[in-house]
Amino acid sequence: MKMFEIVAKDVMGRIAKLETPHGKVETPALMPVVNPNIEIIPARELKRFGAQIVITNSYIIYRTPELREEALKRGVHGLLGVDIPVMTDSGSYQLMVYGDVEVSNEEILRFQIDIGSDIIVPLDVPTPPDADYDTAKSDLEVTLEREREAVKMDRGKRLLALPIQGSTHADLRRKSAEEVVKLGADLYPIGGVVPLMDTYRFYDLVRIVLEVKSVLPSNAPVHLFGAGHPMVFALAVALGCDLFDSAAYALYAKDGRYLTPYGTKKLEELQYFPCSCPVCLEHTPEEIRRMDEEDRTRLLAEHNLWISFEELKRIKQAIKENNLFEFVECRIRSHPNLLFAWRQIREYRTLLELFDPSMKHSFLYTGIESCYRPAVLRHHERVLNVELPDKEEIVISSDEGHPADFYLRPCFGVVPVEMLESYPAGHAEIPPSELLEDEALKIAVEGLKKFLKHHSERKFVVIVNGKWKKFVKDLPENAVIRNAGEEGWGSENLQN
Ligand SMILES: [Zn+2]
Repeated sequence: MKMFEIVAKDVMGRIAKLETPHGKVETPALMPVVNPNIEIIPARELKRFGAQIVITNSYIIYRTPELREEALKRGVHGLLGVDIPVMTDSGSYQLMVYGDVEVSNEEILRFQIDIGSDIIVPLDVPTPPDADYDTAKSDLEVTLEREREAVKMDRGKRLLALPIQGSTHADLRRKSAEEVVKLGADLYPIGGVVPLMDTYRFYDLVRIVLEVKSVLPSNAPVHLFGAGHPMVFALAVALGCDLFDSAAYALYAKDGRYLTPYGTKKLEELQYFPCSCPVCLEHTPEEIRRMDEEDRTRLLAEHNLWISFEELKRIKQAIKENNLFEFVECRIRSHPNLLFAWRQIREYRTLLELFDPSMKHSFLYTGIESCYRPAVLRHHERVLNVELPDKEEIVISSDEGHPADFYLRPCFGVVPVEMLESYPAGHAEIPPSELLEDEALKIAVEGLKKFLKHHSERKFVVIVNGKWKKFVKDLPENAVIRNAGEEGWGSENLQN
């Protein structure tokens, strides 16, 4: 039995089973943060919303005498009143916020073991974004030292999470990931990213995740530490993050904020609830505004949880249907920072190709990001191996009304007649080239050029119509461009 068993994949995301001492958790999973001092929604009720695992802060329990005694006596599950797995955090967050904690790494690890946590975490040092290089580096050395200490401790069957730090420095993030892989963690949290999410710096967030993923083994479970806003779930799952934790549901609720998968709303501004969870069905925004603070916070927190788990279900269904790309491309349109962050996948094509399944049912074009999917690049490569017909001049046409040996299609470039009905090019729903973004034609022409160069000993006639005329230029010498004119194709030679 594997500890992390992947059962379905799409993009870099996956549905998997994570084995813990208190049973299996299906990922992607959201761990609601439980603060045993202030339980807005009691931990025992969280299962009802869809929680399969929760996370709590062992440092808070350790520092509060009555909680500490209770946890040591009845275990952390007894303290919280739950029978599902519990992950514990170590106080790193307090370390980041207050600069100091009154416990040693070994003490807090021992405590997490003693109270029966399912997933334990050493006292890593979360370096904030934009820290100067030397600070980030020396923080990382401390983190690694503590992680080495953690590996040596006898933890029984408990899972050990070894956080990856390094601030916004790509090489430090990679080094941190390399070191924890050598140490052998059960779970790989990416830490120190909350300030990036709070300030909508998704570009940096995506870069960090991609850098870390390019180092970690493909079957390593990844936890995006502190990610609790449903607007980042689709993107983060697609990049290969498996676990999330949410304090957001409660923190936002206290602040009168209402979560949606496409952003945050303020309760005071809502006239209608765009949601059909039990809270939103039974109440109007006005009713909740008139409630006292405690009831209002509780109901908002409930909605925030419903909507977060609902989003995860949508994402899992998209993985099953292999249309997670389409789903992410839809979600990133809710904020420009998400859109530009996602477009970085273009620079990580090779990494994405390692993960993304090569067979799917359909390819729906939703915007220029669709051109960056591995299916496009794979097609450009695959078509190079197609056998050419035995004739003097091979005809490639962008006009599918004309007889040809190959056709030009947006994104995919050269498509042989026999592939016109098969995935991906033949199953692609793409708007007509006349209405399409230039990028989709430019990328197609890149594929065309590669194809022509690959067959440099053969001769080609490339027939272009409409908008294609603008992009099919400067072809290698073995190709002649002709315009598909009104009186029939082949009448005009554009290269003369
Ligand atoms: Zn709702």
